[in-house]
Amino acid sequence: MKIETLAIHAANHTDAATDAVIQPIVLSTTFERNTEGNYPKGYSYSRAGNPNRQALENVLSKLEGGAEAAAFSSGNAAGMTVFQSLKPGTHIIGPDDMYHGLRNQLKHLFAGILEFDFIDVNNEEVLRSYIKPNTGLIWLETPSNPSLKITDIKNVVAIAAEHGIKVVCDNTFASPLGQQPLALGAHMVMHSTTKYLGGHSDLTGGALITANKDEWWEKIIQIQQMGGAIPAPADCYWLVRSIKTLPYRMRGHVENAQKLAEFLEQQPHVERVLYPGVPSHPQHELAKTQMLNFGGMLSFMVKGGAEAAEKVLNATQLFTSATSLGGVESLIERRAAIEGPDTKTPQNLLRVSVGLEHIDDLIADMQQALERI
Ligand SMILES: *Cc1c(COP(=O)(O)O)cnc(C)c1O
Repeated sequence: MKIETLAIHAANHTDAATDAVIQPIVLSTTFERNTEGNYPKGYSYSRAGNPNRQALENVLSKLEGGAEAAAFSSGNAAGMTVFQSLKPGTHIIGPDDMYHGLRNQLKHLFAGILEFDFIDVNNEEVLRSYIKPNTGLIWLETPSNPSLKITDIKNVVAIAAEHGIKVVCDNTFASPLGQQPLALGAHMVMHSTTKYLGGHSDLTGGALITANKDEWWEKIIQIQQMGGAIPAPADCYWLVRSIKTLPYRMRGHVENAQKLAEFLEQQPHVERVLYPGVPSHPQHELAKTQMLNFGGMLSFMVKGGAEAAEKVLNATQLFTSATSLGGVESLIERRAAIEGPDTKTPQNLLRVSVGLEHIDDLIADMQQALERI
C-alpha cells in the first residue's frame, strides 16, 4: 500500500472492546494476568508496552519500510539509545554539522566511553581516512542542519559495508515522505517525532526504525524497556493522529518551501539560498536522485552580516522567531546565535521551517521584512 494509506491505517484498528473507530487512550500502567499467570493480550506493565505505543510503533515502521520501530520520549532519547547500545570503545563517525544536541551527548556524556570524530562524511576520501578497526557506526543526517548539505546515503552504506560498519540516518529533516534511508541501505533510521511527524509543535518524541530484527535491535529494545525513556500513552495517541495527515502536510511544506526559496533567490538583500530544490544548491542533482521531494526546510544568508539577519528576523510577522521545525506554523531562527560561540554556522544565516500558511502571505511578509534592511 502507498504511504498515504499506511499513514491512516497502519496504526488504526477498530477497538475490539467498544467498536470505537478510533483507538482509545489506554492509561492503565498495569494489566491483569490470567489464571495461569500469563498476559494473553501481550501487555503487562506500561514501561514494557502499551497499546497506543504499539500502534505508533506499527505505523512508524511501515512509513520507513522497516521491520520494527521503537518509540521514545524525545529524539535525543532515541539517539542516546543508539549510542548506549554500542560496546564501550566503539568508534563513531558523525557529520561535522551533526544536530548539536546529539553531538553534545557524545562530547559530554560518552567521552571516555565511546570514541567519535565529526567529519565531512560526504567526502569519500575523508570518510575512508577516518575509518578505524574499532569503527562501529556511521551516523548520517541528511539534509543537514542548518546548511542543508546532502550526504549520499547509498555511497556511505557501500563504504561502511566493506568494513562491517552500521549506518544510522537521522531522517528528521526529510521525514519518511522525503527520503527512505532503509531502502537506500541504512540499518536504522532515527526521528525526532517532535518535528514533522508531530507536526503541530505540541509534543516531544523520538523513534528508531530498524531494517532488521537482529541482535543489535534486541539490545535497543532492552534499553528502551529497562531505561524507560518511553513516550506517554497520550503522546503516542497524538502522534498517531498527526501521522494520518503527514503525507498531505508534507506536500504543503515542500510546495511552500520551493516557492519561498525561488523568491528569496531573486532578492537583492539575499546573499545565498540553501535549499536542495533549487539548481543553485551544489548537491541538487544528488538530492534529486536520493530524495522523494526536497523538504520543507531552507536556510538563507542575508547580505550585511548578523545585524542585517537579525533585522529581517525581527521584522517578519508570520515567521515566528523560535527554535524547532516541522510544525504547521512557519518558524525562523538565526542558528549561529543559538549554537554558541564555537559554531561554524555563518552569522548571517537564517533557518526557516516553512509552514502551511498560504505562500502569497509568506512571501509578502518576507518581502516587507527584507525591505527593512
Ligand atoms: C530536534 C532534532 C533532534 C532532537 O530531537 P528532540 O525531540 O528535540 O530530542 C535530533 N535531530 C534533529 C535533526 C532534530 O531536528
